Amino acid sequence: MKLSKSFYVKATSSALLELVPETKKENLDFELPLYDPSKSLVVDLAVVGGGPAGLAVAQQVSEAGLTVCSIDPSPKLIWPNNYGVWVDEFEAMDLLDCLDTTWSGAVVHIDDKSSKDLDRPYGRVNRKQLKSKMMQKCITNGVKFHQAKVVKVIHEESKSLIKCNDGVTIHATVVLDATGFSRCLVEYDKPYNPGYQVAYGILAEVEEHPFDVNKMVFMDWRDSHLENNKELKERNQKIPTFLYAMPFSSQRIFLEETSLVARPGLPMKDIQERMVARLSHLGIKVKSIEEDERCVIPMGGPLPVLPQRVVGIGGTAGMVHPSTGYMVARTLAAAPIVANAIVRYLGTEKSIRGNELSGEVWKDLWPIQRRRQREFFCFGMDILLKLDLDATRRFFDAFFDLEPRYWHGFLSSRLFLPELLVFGLNLFYHASNTSRLEIMGKGTLPLVNMINNLVRDRE
Ligand SMILES: Cc1cc2nc3c(=O)[nH]c(=O)nc-3n(C[C@H](O)[C@H](O)[C@H](O)COP(=O)(O)OP(=O)(O)OC[C@H]3O[C@@H](n4cnc5c(N)ncnc54)[C@H](O)[C@@H]3O)c2cc1C
Repeated sequence: MKLSKSFYVKATSSALLELVPETKKENLDFELPLYDPSKSLVVDLAVVGGGPAGLAVAQQVSEAGLTVCSIDPSPKLIWPNNYGVWVDEFEAMDLLDCLDTTWSGAVVHIDDKSSKDLDRPYGRVNRKQLKSKMMQKCITNGVKFHQAKVVKVIHEESKSLIKCNDGVTIHATVVLDATGFSRCLVEYDKPYNPGYQVAYGILAEVEEHPFDVNKMVFMDWRDSHLENNKELKERNQKIPTFLYAMPFSSQRIFLEETSLVARPGLPMKDIQERMVARLSHLGIKVKSIEEDERCVIPMGGPLPVLPQRVVGIGGTAGMVHPSTGYMVARTLAAAPIVANAIVRYLGTEKSIRGNELSGEVWKDLWPIQRRRQREFFCFGMDILLKLDLDATRRFFDAFFDLEPRYWHGFLSSRLFLPELLVFGLNLFYHASNTSRLEIMGKGTLPLVNMINNLVRDRE
């Protein structure tokens, strides 16, 4: 990958955190067909938000010949997040051309003495390629773009009026909220109490690093870098962070210090401090930082009101994996479900509108088996929230010892409740006695909550 000068800041100081990149905003070079407000057309679908979730649905609904308007304040901006996925997830969607680097496997360092080799290829999403591909298809299919922020929506019986911050009103039969974690239009009626994954990541040029370039580091729970800092070590013992790393070459690497989940989320400063200590201990001297990311992902918490008039997908619709924070692959796989439902019900045969139509779309996005699966993942999150460093290590020691179909299926949302119960029993069986006691002690209340929620949530 060639680095343009503006994205590349040379080291002027040895302090890691002073090496922040000047900018990482890059726009795609597309001539966008714009929505013409003067025509007052009613589009079939307005997609609010042009992240991976929104564009995927816009592309697929327009492919079926329906009219679509995509609204985003920066429609050409290359998505800022550094996405990682399991290669099999992208392969299943025929998206291998949208990975810029793949590793034949991954490694998990449980502690200084033990590590696990994961025989599952991992990849970094080429977000420029993925977004370009989706935009190109949208343009070919006739999607119109409007560059603005949506501020509110007013519903009439068979259409909705979407008000933008530039004064423009867009009329649409169906409104899809795909605004990520800003949850612009979708409504929630329960207190929003998620856990938070917080991480600080840098894509850096380094003098050298100790990692094998053929494997990505999925989790490094070692804490020997905190030996000389009692206070940090104690904080890390209570709420641990791990290193996630994607080595691209011996001198270019993405490094991210990550708090898997905490409530409230860990302060970014704390995470950065731990990262500085870790890199120094690993002998990683950062020469320059090409990109940095401050990642805050709400995990778990309630689902939006089901159903409701505005439909949703992605971060806004509770689709992030509550135990891992991953979502891209799951959302891209769910986009055809949402798109097909919209096309089916807007089509001539089963023409329905308004609340009835939205209800059907929500039903397809969150059928009972997916809601039960999510409930189990929230149970997983509730346990993880309570584990200190030693308990977390024991947990992942047992987790990655499971048969691959279990841990693959858990991480990729492919197991449903009956299999998840078998997964849970297997995990318990593989766990050490100490870990079993911990899971029983810390998991009983979350288990009762999960059972209550499962009983309450009927078809
Ligand atoms: C830093 C970071 C790293 C992540 N890494 C991974 C990863 O490695 N793997 C993974 O699976 N998941 C990852 N995630 C989680 C998740 O996959 C991403 O958050 C993903 O971008 C969510 O996609 P989305 O389309 O739902 O929302 P977003 O990508 O957030 O897109 C939302 C879009 O809506 C627009 N918007 C917001 N408000 C309005 C409004 N009022 N009007 C119009 N437009 C609006 C925004 O400008 C944005 O373009 C990461 C998240 C973060 C924050």
